[in-house]
Amino acid sequence: MKIAVLPGDGIGTEIVAEAIRVLDVLDLPFEMETALVGGAAYEAHGHPLPDSTLKLAKDSDAVLFGAVGDWKYDKLDRPLRPEQAILGLRKNLGLFANFRPAICYEELVDASSLKPELISGLDILIIRELTGDIYFGAPRGRRIAVDGHFPGAEEAFDTMRYSRPEVERIAHVAFQAARKRSKRVTSVDKANVLETFQFWKDIVTEVGKEYPDVALDHMYVDNAAMQLVKAPKMFDVIVTGNMFGDILSDEAAMLTGSIGMLPSASLNASNQGLYEPSHGSAPDIAGQGVANPLATIVSAAMMLRFSLNQPEAADRIESAVKSVLASGLRTGDIWSEGTKRVGTRAMGDAVVAALSSSITKKTITG
Ligand code: NAD
Repeated sequence: MKIAVLPGDGIGTEIVAEAIRVLDVLDLPFEMETALVGGAAYEAHGHPLPDSTLKLAKDSDAVLFGAVGDWKYDKLDRPLRPEQAILGLRKNLGLFANFRPAICYEELVDASSLKPELISGLDILIIRELTGDIYFGAPRGRRIAVDGHFPGAEEAFDTMRYSRPEVERIAHVAFQAARKRSKRVTSVDKANVLETFQFWKDIVTEVGKEYPDVALDHMYVDNAAMQLVKAPKMFDVIVTGNMFGDILSDEAAMLTGSIGMLPSASLNASNQGLYEPSHGSAPDIAGQGVANPLATIVSAAMMLRFSLNQPEAADRIESAVKSVLASGLRTGDIWSEGTKRVGTRAMGDAVVAALSSSITKKTITG
C-alpha cells in the first residue's frame, strides 16, 4: 500500500503531521513518501505541481493531501498559483468523483450556527463531479466583445459544459453510494436556466431507471442552498456538478460546526484517490499550532476505507475521533463554553492515545 503524502502550505504541514502519527499507530504495511506541492513546490522547483510530485501521486494507491495556497502567490500567473496543483492532480489522476460527507457529531451540535434540532443526527453525503463543468470548460479568456450588452467593451468568459459519459459516471457513483445508505438521491441542477443542466437532469433521470430501488428527486441549486440551512436533514445523497458542488459542500460544512471537521475523498474509476480536508491552507492561523487536524485525520480514515481496503482500521480512527470529542477536547474553531481548548498537537495526541488504547484492548480480548 503506497501513500503519497503531500502536506502543501500553511496549516497543511501541521494537520498532515497529525494524520501521519495516527496512521503510524495502526502498524499496517504502508509505504509513505512525502513530496512538495503548492506554494512550497513553487518556491523549491518553480512549479506548484512538479513532475516528480505528479509521478509519485500517479504511482501511489492514494494521496494524502493537506492544503495549498497563500495570499502572497495571488499575483503569480494563474498556471503557477498553488491552487493549480489540485486541479492538475484531479485532471491527471482522473479524479472525477468527490465525496464530501457532512456529519454532525452529537458532541458538536452546539458548534453549529443552526438550531440543535435542525442538525442533530445530520448525515449528508455530497457527491460533486470534479473534472468537468465551467472550471475546466474551454474556451475561456478575455477579449473584446463583439455582441452582448456592450459590444466593443473588454469582457471575460468561461464555458460550462458536460458530456454524456461524464454525467453518466457520476450519476452511477451517486446511485451506488445511495444503495449503501438510505436509498435517496437528490440531483441538484439549474435546468430552468442552463442548457448544460437540463442535459444533466435528463441523463441523471435516465441512469436512475437502472436503480429502481433508489428514490430520485431533482432540485434547483438556489432552492438546495436554501433547504440546506432550512431543513438539512431532508437530504441524504446530493449529486451535483463541479461549481454547484463546490459551493454547497462548503455550506454543508458549516452546518456541522466547522470546516475543520469536514473530510473529503476524490476518486477515479479504479478507486485510486486523493484525500484532503475540505478547507484551505488557512494562512491566518498557519504556524500557530491551533488548526483543527480532525478533518485530515478523518480523511485518512476515508483513504483506508475507499482506496486501501482497510475498513476496520477506518472505523477505529473514526471511533477514536468520536471518543476524543466526547472527552471534551476542542480546537478553537469548535470550542464552546464548558469544553477544553487544545491545539493541533494535543488534539493529535488525544486521537493517537484513543486509537492506541482501542488497539491494546482488541489485542487483550483477542
Ligand atoms: P480556508 O479554508 O483556508 O480558511 C477559511 C477560514 O477557516 C479561516 O478563518 C481559517 O482560519 C479557518 N480554518 C480553515 N481550516 C481550519 C482548521 N483546520 N482549523 C481551524 N480553522 C480553520 O479558506 P481561505 O481563507 O478562503 O483560503 C486560504 C488559502 O487556501 C487560499 O490561498 C485558497 O486559495 C486556499 N484554498 C486551498 C484549498 C485546498 O488546498 N484544497 C481549498 C480552499 C482554499
